[in-house]
Amino acid sequence: MQELEPVDRFNFACYPGIKCFNECCKNLNLALTPYDVLRMARGLKITTTEFLEKYTSRHVGMATGLPVVVLRMVDERCPFVTERGCSIYAHRPTPCRLYPLARVRVGEEIQYYLLREDFCLGHAEEREWSPEKWVEDQGAMEYNSMNDLFFELVSAKNRSGRTLSESEIEEIYKACFDVDRFKSETEIEDDIEALKEGIRYSIDLVLSL
Ligand code: SF4
Ligand code: SF4
Repeated sequence: MQELEPVDRFNFACYPGIKCFNECCKNLNLALTPYDVLRMARGLKITTTEFLEKYTSRHVGMATGLPVVVLRMVDERCPFVTERGCSIYAHRPTPCRLYPLARVRVGEEIQYYLLREDFCLGHAEEREWSPEKWVEDQGAMEYNSMNDLFFELVSAKNRSGRTLSESEIEEIYKACFDVDRFKSETEIEDDIEALKEGIRYSIDLVLSL
């Protein structure tokens, strides 16, 4: 992994017809953020509750003690990959948008890393990008800003030093990841407002006591 400044240059292109097409959609350990879950569910026209049940598995993060939602593979492939590519392209989750970049937030600082995996031939293409331009081109800005809100919860949990009870973890899972269930319990109508409120509620919960 190579760290890149927002304006550093890298070569990359990805398109149907490239020999490695779809190779990156196999054998993934793909953690989804609350905003990823919301967007994918909306893209599939199902509720977040249905999406979580049908397509994800749920864990507790070893480092954070917070709920982690992972996309379940089917026969070692993403359930949304087709011969023609991603069937939910407009709603694809953050890691798929950013690839071959990874974005890491350390406190207030954002770091980008270039991932070079042997199977991915896009690095040999001529087109030049900077992380800034790539993020914009892939429609990832909105995802990054919503994901940063969720990062506030991770920071709050770290600051609190608390170990959460099972019922608290369940509450946070519902408030952050299952937006439709949270909406039905709070009567908030707007998706984004509900997601923001769910994260705020979870931050208050981890900072209580
Ligand atoms: S492996 Fe790389 S170049 Fe090939 S389809 Fe995936 S992202 Fe694109
Ligand atoms: S969501 Fe789309 S881009 Fe991401 S792994 Fe699945 S098929 Fe590939």
